Amino acid sequence: MDLTLTVLEQKFRDELRAWLGGNVPTGWRARHAAMKSIEERFAFIRAWQREVYDAGWAGVAWPKQFGGRGASLIEQVIYHEEMARAQAPLMANVLGIGIIGPTIIGWGTDEQKRRFLASILSGEEIWCQGFSEPGAGSDLAALRTEARRDGDDFLVSGHKVWTSYGWAADWCALLVRTDPEAPRHKGLTYLLVDMHSPGVAVRPLRQMTGECEFTEILFDSVRVPAWNALGSVNDGWNVAITTLMHERGTFGASLHVNFKRQFDRLVELSHTIDRNGRPAAEDPAIRQKLAQCCAEVEIFRLTQMRAITRVSRSGAPGAEGSILKIFWSEYMQRFQQVAAEILGPYSQLTEECAYAPDAGQWAHAFLRARGHTIEAGTSEIQRNIVGAYTLGLPKSY
Ligand SMILES: Cc1cc2nc3c(=O)[nH]c(=O)nc-3n(C[C@H](O)[C@H](O)[C@H](O)COP(=O)(O)OP(=O)(O)OC[C@H]3O[C@@H](n4cnc5c(N)ncnc54)[C@H](O)[C@@H]3O)c2cc1C
Repeated sequence: MDLTLTVLEQKFRDELRAWLGGNVPTGWRARHAAMKSIEERFAFIRAWQREVYDAGWAGVAWPKQFGGRGASLIEQVIYHEEMARAQAPLMANVLGIGIIGPTIIGWGTDEQKRRFLASILSGEEIWCQGFSEPGAGSDLAALRTEARRDGDDFLVSGHKVWTSYGWAADWCALLVRTDPEAPRHKGLTYLLVDMHSPGVAVRPLRQMTGECEFTEILFDSVRVPAWNALGSVNDGWNVAITTLMHERGTFGASLHVNFKRQFDRLVELSHTIDRNGRPAAEDPAIRQKLAQCCAEVEIFRLTQMRAITRVSRSGAPGAEGSILKIFWSEYMQRFQQVAAEILGPYSQLTEECAYAPDAGQWAHAFLRARGHTIEAGTSEIQRNIVGAYTLGLPKSY
């Protein structure tokens, strides 16, 4: 591993750092936290995405011809690290920029690229990913939402679930079954569906954090032009793999920066919270747990660097993404557990309570962390991938 940046990479970092220094809105977190509705918060990050886009920093990984910067793998890592260091707001169109846009770039016709890509980058049109169903999650090929050909259109009927941003989305990357007679992986098609079409019903799903980050979507004979098929009809599985590969992309580079910041903050708090008559930071058991978290953040950072080095040499991602996903999602749960032990009853206080440390973000993060080992492939599924592709074990499924 060589962690030294080249002159060009340093230039890229300095340019981005300077832009962020002058443009991340000061005090935005407090203003964002004070916004009462999810719609208002979303409008805020949408406006931020527009600024990033106007300055030419949206979709850095995308080729220049499609509005991106054609950034190298290392530059993408720098980008995510710098965004996290500057504590910039997240982008609104996370799925559009991160996974669906790149899939359109890979599989779309010229007309499809012209129609969709610019509005993804600017945040004008928000996207969601309609893959999971009540009977198809880890076993995605079991999906049953069907699309029947009707002249120049498909008629789509079915039920998707756990769709992040479904409530905000203008478009959905929808995986449907177009040939029920074909083997499970063969009869699927990847459709780009207008969420404002008649017959689309979106129902919010409330999580234990109290938020409705995701939704279920019902499709009742929704008319979708055949033009909106991405890739060939019945070849949707291969198109979907492209989306899933991008799901484990370089965004993880921001995580170790955020983990370190959260860790440092917990150490600060541990000096202010009393435990058995002295600051928690002086309790040997607490010190040991904090030291373990500190070591794990560093292990994660270096494992990530090693994975990036390997991918930049081989040109192809391997099972590293799965190893990292298991590590960070399970670390997050361990860390939140330690935070809850240190903060005690304060860890349960939500933003409505004036005594909640850091405006209730600890209570929120503890609950939200449960989903990390499920979203984008569960820990069990990631372990199956590592077992099969890294350890060479026989497949268990
Ligand atoms: C926060 C969040 C956001 C999400 N956003 C989206 C989204 O935007 N779009 C979308 O389409 N989906 C989304 N999902 C859904 C997610 O992809 C699925 O929840 C996930 O793939 C697991 O599927 P499932 O819930 O059906 O569980 P199941 O597949 O039914 O699994 C249940 C349990 O069985 C285990 N299991 C299943 N198969 C195996 C096996 N072969 N070997 C060992 N263990 C196994 C699983 O690990 C799990 O513990 C989101 C989920 C979460 C939590």
